[in-house]
Amino acid sequence: MRKKNTIAALLMAALLCFSGCAQADTGADVTRAPAGAQTQEDTETETALQTEDEAQPAGETETALSDKDGTLDIYFLDVGEGDAAFLTCGGESMMIDGGNPEDSDKIFSFLTQQDVTQLKYIIATHPHSDHIGGLSGALVKCGAQTLLTPADSYDSDAFADMMRYAGEKNVQVVKPSPGDTLTLGGAEIEILAPDETDFQTGEETSVNNISIICKVTYGSTSMLFTGDAEAEEEEELLRSGADLHADVLKVGHHGSDTSTGEEFLRSVSPTDAVISVGADNSYGHPSQTVLDRLTQVGAAVYRTDLQGDIHLQSDGTQLTFETEKQAQQPVTRSNVQQAQTQAADEQPQASGEQTRTDYVLNANTKKFHYPDCPSVAKMSEKNKIYYTGTRDEVIQMGYEPCANCNP
Ligand SMILES: [Zn+2]
Ligand SMILES: [Zn+2]
Repeated sequence: MRKKNTIAALLMAALLCFSGCAQADTGADVTRAPAGAQTQEDTETETALQTEDEAQPAGETETALSDKDGTLDIYFLDVGEGDAAFLTCGGESMMIDGGNPEDSDKIFSFLTQQDVTQLKYIIATHPHSDHIGGLSGALVKCGAQTLLTPADSYDSDAFADMMRYAGEKNVQVVKPSPGDTLTLGGAEIEILAPDETDFQTGEETSVNNISIICKVTYGSTSMLFTGDAEAEEEEELLRSGADLHADVLKVGHHGSDTSTGEEFLRSVSPTDAVISVGADNSYGHPSQTVLDRLTQVGAAVYRTDLQGDIHLQSDGTQLTFETEKQAQQPVTRSNVQQAQTQAADEQPQASGEQTRTDYVLNANTKKFHYPDCPSVAKMSEKNKIYYTGTRDEVIQMGYEPCANCNP
């Protein structure tokens, strides 16, 4: 049995609490794991501090929901080459990253549309400006009860702005540890990384590897957010023994091949993956290697560069995806042989995931074809995108019909 001790009051003392911060009674709770316990289930710590209800059996990752809990809604916002996600559940909301400084306006108007008056949490996964730049927009719009950041200081304008606005809005600033949990309505968010010792030993070579990694659980559904964590942090997390499985993976570092290692991905084994990445970015993200790995584990891939804002809804049991640029149609690169052996109109498997191919897109030439077009056979495998959906959707994505097969 794992016990969770709410020590918001203690945290306050340990925090970088800005002067004028006087929200001890209203601050969002961060439920802190017993010191040193991390993900171990065998550590029991008795404490005089408030202990939350213990209904959850050890090792269970489900959260108990009732009808009134409604849905968990996650919006992966298209902020070009950057990350920004808005989460809302049971009337409470939070952001995990906010995109580049120039995305501040988008974040501001999105939160206005959503009618958010105050965010419960902001997680700034790591100090790079493509993650925290636009958080200024969020802080100016509605502030937050608590800002979680892995770094106390960082030499950049974006970081300075974020901390300044956090100060102005009396936001509690917390450096989280593995095992800490947050609640958002009926959803639970567990912090899995980074580990405090990483900073002390100076082991981390890259700021990406101090990314806050957290797992959101709602009912029997779960989502893993990894910031820009690279192989080094992924491997550390594997060694920690944490339960990494999640239905949805926010793919690390915009689909770069420095991240999403095979062993890590197998441990997560997501059914769906979201890549937050800019169209025509200069880094070559997402990498074909990572796209192939995602295909190998059978994950449907959603991409902000192709589909704009992506809305994921969980009712606690089922996940629904809706995308700005075409509704509910993941762009998946299916296994080639599977696509070739299946009749074009066949609806295979019971998983609900579509593997039927309506069109084959050439990512290089931006032309699209019927699957039996002779050009498809000549196409380089790495440029092929097997697409299920309508002709209009493909055209909206910027592809032109092949002049030979006239799809
Ligand atoms: Zn990034
Ligand atoms: Zn980064």
